[in-house]
Amino acid sequence: MKVIVTGGAGFIGSALVRYLVRNTDAHILNLDKLTYAANVDSLAEIADSDRYEFVRADICDATVLEGVFDAFKPTAIMHLAAESHVDRSIEGPSEFIQTNVVGTFTLLECALKYWKGLSGCRSNDFRFLHVSTDEVYGDLADTSGLFTETTPYAPSSPYAASKASSDHLVRAWARTYGLPALVTNCSNNYGPYQFPEKLIPHMIIHALKGNSLPIYGDGQQVRDWLYVNDHASALWTVLSHGEVGNTYNIGGHNEKTNLDVVGKICSEIDRLGRTHADAAKSSDLITFVKDRPGHDMRYAIDASKINSELGWSPSETFETGIEKTIAWYLSNEAWWTNVLNGGYRLGRIGEGADR
Ligand code: NAD
Repeated sequence: MKVIVTGGAGFIGSALVRYLVRNTDAHILNLDKLTYAANVDSLAEIADSDRYEFVRADICDATVLEGVFDAFKPTAIMHLAAESHVDRSIEGPSEFIQTNVVGTFTLLECALKYWKGLSGCRSNDFRFLHVSTDEVYGDLADTSGLFTETTPYAPSSPYAASKASSDHLVRAWARTYGLPALVTNCSNNYGPYQFPEKLIPHMIIHALKGNSLPIYGDGQQVRDWLYVNDHASALWTVLSHGEVGNTYNIGGHNEKTNLDVVGKICSEIDRLGRTHADAAKSSDLITFVKDRPGHDMRYAIDASKINSELGWSPSETFETGIEKTIAWYLSNEAWWTNVLNGGYRLGRIGEGADR
């Protein structure tokens, strides 16, 4: 099995690459543009594997993609490359349209051309797995409903709209051209190596530094949380056993308000004796800030299809996953300090640490 992982230097992509190297026999080619969100340090544990290689490339560059496809001859594409941060999409949506929509279109065209050139079992075995988000479904108005695979799309943010667009393209390429594609829609991920702009690492690091912990609005927004290694195992399950043309929701059965998530981080840091000297308890650092425009109140995933049809379920609860995550950030300060000071971008060709 030869798998191209796009976006494999990002948070989930790097967890997936580490998972594939450790738990499968697959050969992996990580194709990543190395934007600000990428960190090759996250791949250090497996970088020396003879089943791993890296190509720096943009998924919008069809010429480069065609060359990579022809040289590597993949059995599967696992497509994770994306602009992924909602706040950035509100500030500047253009990159989100370019990478998430135009990039996915370009990748689909290259994959289709490559797949059409295959024959026999190589053609039958080929898969294109598109990794997406539950945010495409929009806001759940009530407190009990769940997103299923047939919930109509109603994206609220530019990020969610760009991911919804890319999902539609993948489904259309499957239906119209017969490309053997699958789509997954997953809830919020957390775990080691997540970029510090995202909620959980942001709050852990700020609590350790004694900085304020800013929560949007009243903090009552509900999200379902999935430990990132569980997402990696779900993606491999869908790639290996999913039915072509299908969509699978992936979730952790861990619905929490943002305030509950931050509260749990605070109490765990206090329990470990790492409360900052400027605070009696970490939760004293919580502040409430103006809500994000268009902020959805509740996302919740019905993950029964992947469970009943493919036998997948998450192995971490929120409690076990968040404890592992906090322990990881405590013992890997060098990793996140290098991100915060820009050092993680040093040495990339054509790019300074200050950009
Ligand atoms: P991330 O921002 O951490 O990583 C994205 C990666 O894509 C980076 O390594 C970046 O360099 C790369 N990339 C960006 N533009 C590229 C381009 N034009 N060409 C090639 N590479 C490019 O994102 P993440 O949180 O790891 O999310 C990965 C995927 O999973 C995304 O598609 C996202 O929509 C989806 N997803 C994320 C979550 C979550 O909670 N983070 C939940 C569900 C689905």
